[in-house]
Amino acid sequence: MSACLLGLNCKYNGKNNLNSEVIKLLSKERLIPVCPEQLGGCPTPRPPSEIIEGDGEDVLNGRSRVINKNGEDVTQYFIRGAEEVLRLAQTMGVKKAILKERSPSCGNCSIYDGSFSGRTRRGSGVSAQILKSNGITVISEEDLKNGK
Ligand code: SF4
Repeated sequence: MSACLLGLNCKYNGKNNLNSEVIKLLSKERLIPVCPEQLGGCPTPRPPSEIIEGDGEDVLNGRSRVINKNGEDVTQYFIRGAEEVLRLAQTMGVKKAILKERSPSCGNCSIYDGSFSGRTRRGSGVSAQILKSNGITVISEEDLKNGK
């Protein structure tokens, strides 16, 4: 579970994305909160980052980079965070992840497009992609609203 959806203040601006559908799940599911950007070594707060000309798969394959709003290359932190999330998921036998849509780490079907303008493109974030590539089902908090 993306930790920000549970109300942890791990978002780039030091805030969270508390989600009522996620909170409802707490009564029936065992949820493990993770923030891949923090696990990868990013500070909080931090400048927002986006994937430039690609998606999480491109980043993992070395074809694309993650850049923050100051123009700094933060790719290594995003890859390290994704690897840590995968390690945790495999260690704990996790089969399904609920991740925050549009994040360059957690986005499932949609991510910001690298222009820092709020526009999005199809594709997955780095952590969502590494989980899917290793057989773990990923859905977003928006899928929860739709009853998935
Ligand atoms: S990396 Fe994921 S868990 Fe962390 S703040 Fe961003 S969307 Fe939330």
